[in-house]
Amino acid sequence: QRSRDRAQAHADCRMADGTRIEIFANLGSQADAAAAVAAGAEGCGLLRTEFLFLERAEAPDEAEQREIYSGIATTLGDRPLIVRTLDIGGDKPVPYLPMAAEENPALGLRGVRLSLARPDLMQVQLRAILRAVPADQCRIMLPMIADLSDYRAVRAMLDAEKAALGIDVPVPLGVMIETPAAAMLADMLAAEADFLSIGTNDLTQYTLAVDRGNAAVSHRIDALHPAVLRLIREVGRGAQRHGRWAGVCGGLASDPLAAPILIGLGITELSATPAAIARLKAVVRTLDMARCIDLAERACAAESAAAVRAMAQGVLA
Ligand code: PEP
Ligand code: MG
Repeated sequence: QRSRDRAQAHADCRMADGTRIEIFANLGSQADAAAAVAAGAEGCGLLRTEFLFLERAEAPDEAEQREIYSGIATTLGDRPLIVRTLDIGGDKPVPYLPMAAEENPALGLRGVRLSLARPDLMQVQLRAILRAVPADQCRIMLPMIADLSDYRAVRAMLDAEKAALGIDVPVPLGVMIETPAAAMLADMLAAEADFLSIGTNDLTQYTLAVDRGNAAVSHRIDALHPAVLRLIREVGRGAQRHGRWAGVCGGLASDPLAAPILIGLGITELSATPAAIARLKAVVRTLDMARCIDLAERACAAESAAAVRAMAQGVLA
């Protein structure tokens, strides 16, 4: 029994009707990679590279970054590795990044915006990723995209770094969908970006106008809110229109209750915390696409996140 459980945990994940759903892991350190593989992750859907940049006097140089990225890539074996470029902003003090105090750091110079304000840092990071992660394993993802302009600026930087290194095979460059703007323009983004991955933590905070970190209101945060689900529906449709895949790498991907709704909205990759992976695979294997689509439509028409949760309970039970 135990070896059968283990084989199931490591097998690719398919729904009851045979539809393939990729179950990936979010990583925030080198140690996480081994835990993810042990838990049956089929790849890394979000490597949060911030851990390399925070709490230090100087930015990590290319050699240091390469060592970490290549250690993680090796631990993952031949599984895909999606590296997110640096995602910090004015709310986190970083001595080597002289950032002005901001009244609204969540709306400020963060994520890809900061990277474009400091192209020297971005170039080093892109080069380190390209040199450390084998091209057929490597995917790169940009945080805090609002429209095509920032995507195109980084695309040009990536193409230049690839040319300088003599890399002529494609390295997929995707966008995180974390702003309502990006969700509403998903079809436009999908025309150029290689994949879309929804950061439901930020997408929910910006859609509901509720600060993730403010205890007075953060209980109002539930990513299963129908307003968020309608935006996710746009992302699923936009990706499908252009033959791209759309995934979820925010906290909602780790919630088994959300899986049938997300899948019914066109999501084909879920990137969860390593601890959630076994249960997520087990739940996805019981699901049927027609029922997921029906549930997703009803969820988008619901009045509240609580109503959505009640509906989803009924389907999973
Ligand atoms: C998100 O916003 O959902 C996300 C995955 O990014 P982070 O939680 O690192 O902001
Ligand atoms: Mg985010």
